[in-house]
Amino acid sequence: MKLDYHMHFEYGSYDESWVEGFFTAARERGLDEIGISEHSHTFPEFEPLYYEDLVLDDSFIGEFQKKWLKKNKFKYTLEDYFTFMGRLREHHAVKTGIEVCNFQDQEKVRDILKDYDFDYVIGSIHFLRGWAYDSSEIKAEWEKHSLEDIYDWYAEEAEKLCEAGLYDVLGHPFNIRLFKYLPDFDVTPYLERVAKAMAKAHMAVDVNTGTYYRYPIREISPYPDFMCMAAKYDLPIITSSDAHKPEDCGRHIDDAIAYAKEFGYKESLQFEHRRARAVLMG
Ligand SMILES: [Zn+2]
Ligand SMILES: [Zn+2]
Repeated sequence: MKLDYHMHFEYGSYDESWVEGFFTAARERGLDEIGISEHSHTFPEFEPLYYEDLVLDDSFIGEFQKKWLKKNKFKYTLEDYFTFMGRLREHHAVKTGIEVCNFQDQEKVRDILKDYDFDYVIGSIHFLRGWAYDSSEIKAEWEKHSLEDIYDWYAEEAEKLCEAGLYDVLGHPFNIRLFKYLPDFDVTPYLERVAKAMAKAHMAVDVNTGTYYRYPIREISPYPDFMCMAAKYDLPIITSSDAHKPEDCGRHIDDAIAYAKEFGYKESLQFEHRRARAVLMG
């Protein structure tokens, strides 16, 4: 089976004519099923959490992030999302997921998620100490921190997400390579910390092609060293494109499958109502 479980409608609206292109691309690329994983910043329910966690002062990153929170965010409620997905499900093989940022208050996240029947929940590290490290507009911030700190913060955030016990998948693990700041020290202990925490929480790895076609690093996440670690800890996987535009749905999914096979993977997960089932890939 060919599955793509990580993509976003947010550049458009909950309008069937906008999202039809995702299904067209899925058909053209021979996908059996797709899953939508809207960002938590689509939904006003999560808005207070962003204001609690993000650096929003008059610093370089604070100024950018204040504006970022005002741009195209919090525009549909979770109820709107489920209503829209219900309509799509009448005609399409599509699952309802969500990609939740790494908030500090996991109890609040638990409280928001508990009322909704998601097929799967992705937890992704998008912030390190309140800094949106993947935003190219504030890329200069990378120069202010040591890579040792960044790897340590990343591992710490991943451990917190795993311990919360709320997530089925860790989104694009170790995408901190995205701007090609590459370590010249041994990162094995950080990789091991994350893999161990994921194994304990029964979480899957998101093999995500977004970092291949959307970022300077031009590689699938997670990169080979973490794929080896994932295989060592027997972590299951999903495959995804992280599409933000209709035409990117399923983009490079065959490459993601071939890549995972290099590490001995034959199956990926299919989700329904938070239950995972392993299916043969390809
Ligand atoms: Zn993400
Ligand atoms: Zn995403």
